[in-house]
Order: sequence, then C-alpha cells, then structure tokens
Amino acid sequence: MPPPRVLIIGCGVAGPVVALLLQRKGYSPIVLEKVRELGDAGSSLMLMPNGLKVLSLLGLSSFATESTPHLACLRDISSDGTELGGSKLPAIWKERYGQPACGVKRTALNLALKDRCLAAGIPVLEGWNLQNIIESGNGVTAIAKDGRKEEGSFLIGCDGIRSMTRSLVLRTHGIDEEEATFTGLTQAAGTSAIPESWNSNPGMLNWYGPSAHFITFPVFPSTTTSWAITERSSIEEVETWQQMSPDQLAAYKKKLTEQFKGWCEPIPELIKSATRIIKYGLYDRPQLEPRQWVSEQGRCVLIGDAAHPTSPHLGQGANQALEDCYHLAKMLPNVERGEVQHPSLNVQKLKLVLLEFAEKRQPRTAVLVKGARAHGEKRVVDDEEACQVRDEVLRSGWEDVEGVEAKWEGLLKEPF
Ligand SMILES: Cc1cc2nc3c(=O)[nH]c(=O)nc-3n(C[C@H](O)[C@H](O)[C@H](O)COP(=O)(O)OP(=O)(O)OC[C@H]3O[C@@H](n4cnc5c(N)ncnc54)[C@H](O)[C@@H]3O)c2cc1C
Repeated sequence: MPPPRVLIIGCGVAGPVVALLLQRKGYSPIVLEKVRELGDAGSSLMLMPNGLKVLSLLGLSSFATESTPHLACLRDISSDGTELGGSKLPAIWKERYGQPACGVKRTALNLALKDRCLAAGIPVLEGWNLQNIIESGNGVTAIAKDGRKEEGSFLIGCDGIRSMTRSLVLRTHGIDEEEATFTGLTQAAGTSAIPESWNSNPGMLNWYGPSAHFITFPVFPSTTTSWAITERSSIEEVETWQQMSPDQLAAYKKKLTEQFKGWCEPIPELIKSATRIIKYGLYDRPQLEPRQWVSEQGRCVLIGDAAHPTSPHLGQGANQALEDCYHLAKMLPNVERGEVQHPSLNVQKLKLVLLEFAEKRQPRTAVLVKGARAHGEKRVVDDEEACQVRDEVLRSGWEDVEGVEAKWEGLLKEPF
C-alpha cells in the first residue's frame, strides 16, 4: 500500500522542511506553492541556534554555517554613536547549543530547501495556488484556483502570513477572519558592502535614533552586510518582497541619505553603498487559540506564519517556523515503524496529535509574537524625551547580565 500522502501548502521555510522531516518517517509529502517560479525575493533572515538545530537534522545547517560569519556579539548604539550596551554571548552559542547564529539571504535559503525536496524525490508544484479544501472521512482534497486537485491523508498549511489555509481552517470553526492588519510600521531592508572601518566581525548592531531603528548583521558573502530600517508610516505598504528598480533604488537612497544625514557613520555609508533595497509593511493577525490551528474535522493544521505570524523584531519568524516543523514531525506517528494503519489514517487519532501539537506550540509562539510586537513599538519613538527614556531602558537592560543570559537561554535551548 502506498504511504499516507501529506499535502503541504507553501514552499517557503516551513513547507519544505516539514516535508523532508515527514518523508523520513515514511510519509509521502507533496509541496504545493502559489508562486510560479520561486526566485529572487525578500532580503535576509537571522537563523538562530534553535532554527539551525532543526536544519541540522536534515544536514542543511552547513548551508548557512559554512558560508556566513557566525554572529559574535550584540550591540545597541544610539544614533550619535554612544554605546548603550551589548553582549558577547553569541560567540559561545555554537559551543553551548551546537549551532551558532548566522544571517542568510532568504532567497538562497528558500531555493536550497526547495532543491533539497526535489533531490529527495518530493514533488514541488509551483504556480499551485490553494483556493479550497474539502475534508471527508477518507482524506482531504486541496483545490487550486485553476481547478487542479490533490488528495492526501492530511494537510499542513505553511502558506505564510496571508495564509489561505488559515482562512479555510478558521471557517470550519465558524470564523470569517479579516485580512491581516497593518501595524503602522514599515521596514526597508538592504544589502551593502561592509564598511572599511569594520575590520572584524561586528555582530548584530542596533542603532536607535529619532523616529527610526537601524539594524545590521553579516550575511553571505562576508564582504556584505544586511540591514533594515524600521519606521512608522501612515501609508500601508503591502509586502511584495520585490527588489526596487534601478530608478526607484536611486530615488529611495536619495531620500534615506537626507533622512539619516544626522546619524553617525557607518549608517550614511551603508545607505550610500546599498545595492539592493526592498520596502514592506509589517502586518499582524489576531492570536489564535490552539484548537483553531486545527480544522474542526481534524485533517488540517497550521504551522509557521500561517499559525502565528510575527513582526521581525526578535528575529524569530523563521526560527519558530522551524521549531514547529520539528515538533509536528516528532509527534506524528512513524509510518516506517508500522505505527500508522492507513487508509487513510484514523482521523480521531490524527486530530488528537494535531491538537496536542498546537497545545504545545501556541503558548511559546504567542509570547514571542507579543514580545516582538512590543519590541517594535519601543524601538521606534519620536520625540527627544521618549528617545532618552528608550535609550535608558536599553542601557539598564544590558546591565542585567543574568537577565540577558536567561532570556537567550529560554529561546535557544529549544527545540532539543
Ligand atoms: C517571498 C518572501 C520573502 C521574504 N523575505 C523575508 C525577509 O527578507 N526577511 C524576513 O524577516 N522575512 C521574510 N519573509 C518572511 C519569512 O520567510 C517568514 O516569516 C518565516 O520564514 C516563516 O516561514 P513560513 O514558511 O511560515 O512562511 P513563508 O516563508 O512566508 O512561506 C509561505 C509560502 O507559502 C506560499 N503561499 C502563500 N499562499 C499560498 C497559497 N494560497 N497556495 C500555495 N502557496 C501559498 C508563499 O508563496 C510562500 O512561499 C519572506 C517571506 C516571503 C514569502
């Protein structure tokens, strides 16, 4: 009998990883991706030890760790160059958790994951845009916008912040969710040459000034650095993750040069030497209860941004999606060891496992989503007094060395 087929919606970060992990347990996954041809989109992500540990199970962590400088320190600096505090903890993460933290280009990660699926014989259908799901006693059918259908035993929604799976799963609970809401914060993310003044690995640097926050971290190749500016905006900026055209890039750099002319170096230099910039709004969705991660009939589950989209201020979006993959794959029964009586699985038992997964993951991800949101709000303040208060809070936060260590320990000791 063929193994249970798993329909995986979305070939971003979570989709291909959960597909690969489930294949190892004897399932037969298929990945269905809306975009016609995955390629150059987005900027960079910071993979932390908790996320890299999951990639290491698939032999994929070296993709990041062998090509990108490992993060050596964290530093907060005010826009006039005054040091607010920092920590050299990242330098010991590899020893402590088995993996370092590394910046990666999202496209490179995405394509490496997709290629690994294809090499493992997992079909990835691009241009496959989920529109509907039908659950029955014998399985689940996913229907694409163009009418194509795929059948499976169960379905995993990994289709990101604007997840169609999420809308359909929530409908089974009688909820018609609104579109994602704009948080009032936007980011511009770019890549620039490493400034000459940085003669050693600078780590992750956060600069705080009036009305803006600027972050930089190293990515591959080691001659470049990734950066992102967070600021407030009353104008929505839907995320297309597309690069600016050369004319748009020149005009936008001119605007940023004017806006950041009062900031210390290397901020003006990084803006001047930027070769790529994307701009996108930060969006939010209401927190779901664990039972809402699973469809009423029990054959569909949400993971990653589809379940718990987060603003990027704690750098945990991709890392929490990877933790989800690990836990879901671990909790599902092993087909190879004969733990599954197919066709097409016992839906009561399946639903219990999916709910147990959601119960495990929802509390941790909910705390991180709230934390990231609060962090973003604190980072971007306007008037001088509010800036001084923010800087003081940052300074005293770093002075609590034990508190800093405990925070990172709680984050990075997971998922195993
Ligand atoms: C193109 C792109 C670029 C990004 N760039 C950055 C970045 O530079 N920095 C950053 O911090 N975060 C970025 N993100 C977000 C980041 O990747 C996620 O927050 C994080 O990795 C969580 O992963 P995920 O797998 O849950 O969702 P995602 O990585 O967002 O993947 C979701 C996937 O589902 C697909 N999809 C959506 N709807 C459907 C549908 N109806 N049918 C089938 N497939 C569907 C999407 O095309 C996408 O490939 C980007 C996301 C995308 C989609």
